[in-house]
Formats: sequence, C-alpha cells, structure tokens
Amino acid sequence: MNRVEIHKEECKGCRLCVDACPKHCLIPGSGINNIGYQFIEFESERCTACGICYYVCPELGAITVHKKDKGETP
Ligand code: SF4
Ligand code: SF4
Repeated sequence: MNRVEIHKEECKGCRLCVDACPKHCLIPGSGINNIGYQFIEFESERCTACGICYYVCPELGAITVHKKDKGETP
C-alpha cells in the first residue's frame, strides 16, 4: 500500500500538504510536537504516491512518500 510518513518533529504545521493532496489523505492531527506545532497525520488508503505533498512541503525531511512495491498486494 502507498503511504506517506510524516516526520512529526520536522513538521511546522503549515498545512500546505493538507490543501495540496488531491486525495485528501493528510489531516491536521491532534498532537503537538516538541517545538509546539500541530503536526500532520497521514490517514488514507487512497494515496497514489503522487508526491505532491512532498514537493509542496517547505520543510526538508518532514515527508517521505513510500510507493507500493510492485509485488505487494494492495
Ligand atoms: S503522495 Fe499524493 S496522494 Fe499521497 S498523501 Fe501525498 S499528495 Fe496525497
Ligand atoms: S507541508 Fe510540511 S511542514 Fe507543512 S504541514 Fe505539511 S508536513 Fe508539515
């Protein structure tokens, strides 16, 4: 399954990724990271691993996109 990993300590909670995701896979979570930002959570099986969230995120290292392996069942 495609999935996106949010590295919560790098996230500044700007929500650019939330607005940019065409599949609405990213949501503002309820947690607060160590520097006081409300980090984003990934919540969806609809993710196409398009990478848009990765490209819009201004924080290097906050998002990693994992594309489903070819042999993996959905
Ligand atoms: S990779 Fe694409 S579909 Fe998946 S969470 Fe990011 S923007 Fe959304
Ligand atoms: S774009 Fe990056 S910094 Fe902004 S909320 Fe999303 S993961 Fe966090």
